[in-house]
Amino acid sequence: MPREVISMLMMKERRPAFRTIDGWARCVLLGAGAIRECEEHGCMKDSADPHAFERALLIALEDPPPGVSPEEAVAAIENVLGWIGDACPECSAESG
Ligand SMILES: [Zn+2]
Repeated sequence: MPREVISMLMMKERRPAFRTIDGWARCVLLGAGAIRECEEHGCMKDSADPHAFERALLIALEDPPPGVSPEEAVAAIENVLGWIGDACPECSAESG
């Protein structure tokens, strides 16, 4: 294997699996059912399910992304959920 290819692979390995911890948190929230995708617009909305939110927090505590502490993972989950409203912003714009 040429040396340039090897160094490229090594650079790739140093990157985290997820580009940002926010992206990871959104995946966890979606997987747990704490947020849902609007069928029409594809934006995220809070599913207002406290059990789903608890599940997402448990995942963050037990299985944080590589190089991230459980505390940071939980903070990211709470942070991402804080941005997401109960309704899709595009749906509310249409009805309002
Ligand atoms: Zn929508």
